Amino acid sequence: MNEKYVEHLQGMVRIPTVSNADPSQMDFGQFEKFHQYLEEAYPAIHKKMEKKIIGRAGLLYKWTGKKSDKLPVLLMGHQDVVPEGDHAKWKYPPYAAEVADGCIWGRGTTDCKCVMAAEMETVEALINEGFEPDFDIYLAYGYNEEVQAEVKSAQEIVQYLKDQGVKLGCVFDEGSGITDGKEMGYDGYVCQVELGEKAYQDYEIYQDNPGGHSMEPGQGTALGAVSRAVVALEANPLPYRLTDIVENQLKALSRCMTGEKAAVYADPRGRWEELCAMAKEDKKLDSLLHTTCAVTMASGSAQSNILPEHASMIMNCRVLQGDTSESLLAYFRSVIPEDVEVRKVLGDDPEPAASVEGRPYQLIGEIAKANYGENVLMVPALLAGGTDARYYPPICDNVFRHTGFYRDERWGAAHQVNEKIPCDALESAIKFYRGLLLRY
Ligand SMILES: [Zn+2]
Repeated sequence: MNEKYVEHLQGMVRIPTVSNADPSQMDFGQFEKFHQYLEEAYPAIHKKMEKKIIGRAGLLYKWTGKKSDKLPVLLMGHQDVVPEGDHAKWKYPPYAAEVADGCIWGRGTTDCKCVMAAEMETVEALINEGFEPDFDIYLAYGYNEEVQAEVKSAQEIVQYLKDQGVKLGCVFDEGSGITDGKEMGYDGYVCQVELGEKAYQDYEIYQDNPGGHSMEPGQGTALGAVSRAVVALEANPLPYRLTDIVENQLKALSRCMTGEKAAVYADPRGRWEELCAMAKEDKKLDSLLHTTCAVTMASGSAQSNILPEHASMIMNCRVLQGDTSESLLAYFRSVIPEDVEVRKVLGDDPEPAASVEGRPYQLIGEIAKANYGENVLMVPALLAGGTDARYYPPICDNVFRHTGFYRDERWGAAHQVNEKIPCDALESAIKFYRGLLLRY
């Protein structure tokens, strides 16, 4: 195990770079400290690469390679972490980066300072070895991935690259890695790569009403009307359909299954009716086959004896490639009664997913096989959550969420207390990034 890797990640975790949707609530002094620490930990990068601070605290490094027809590679992650929560519930203090039981403990160890550390470690070593890439290498780290901020740091970085006329060959962000297939029922290793993600959109379903006294409600209240609309929406979910990415994902997963289920997953188009029946019983599968709509918040009047003047429910939608806010609004309006309105509150349309056909995707498989042997199952996947990678498709056709990290049961979950990463895990990701930059 390389002590230096552990030390550097510890140094990064000890600086609490917590983000907030409201930038005035953020301590940017911590981000300045963080940037200074990176200068100390990775001197070769800071000597060789051109560094730009984008916006308040976004980081972009560029290593200009020898001229060739290869498009640049961009490795990314994010600097910020979510708040640490209840200190009393942490086994070790959240920003002490204590090493215990073979793991580094602390907020940001897995999400995702480990990714930053592995990427920077790889590039630092290649510079020191005298590697001369025939393509440009970028490192990019936003400062507010974890929050729904008005201005997203990753968006600013992409805008800057766009303004420079940069087109990227591939992008690698936080995401899946390698796991032992046993848990999934596969005899070998599983290499999962998220090729795209569903978009996040909120809609308000509402009715404005003169209101009045609750002793004279007449034929019902605005809240009742909105409720009827919601009942109609739940009774009419968006129809199932199969996108390319999900078709590939299901076919790959079929290799981990047995019996009927394996046969259906292996031929999702041919056995469509059966697949749809399965999805009705399986939330995860359901989420892959359509835009999901979850009504999560409701509000009426401020007091029980006042009729609501504005009754409203908020519906969070996770939008599948192919749907847009325009198509969704038209659909919702066709389903709900005419006396209730619907509007989009926030969110962008989904970006196209990367392809499994291109050279960069093939390369991930080659590296996994070089590191773990021939028995590696490649699983292309659609990500349910969101990452900063979603801003890159306008300047890159091959945007992947994959880190090469070998994950096992020793990892502590992101966003929870006792987040931790095994000290020896860093090497697995560094091996991946190294393979990528040397073979690209
Ligand atoms: Zn993250």
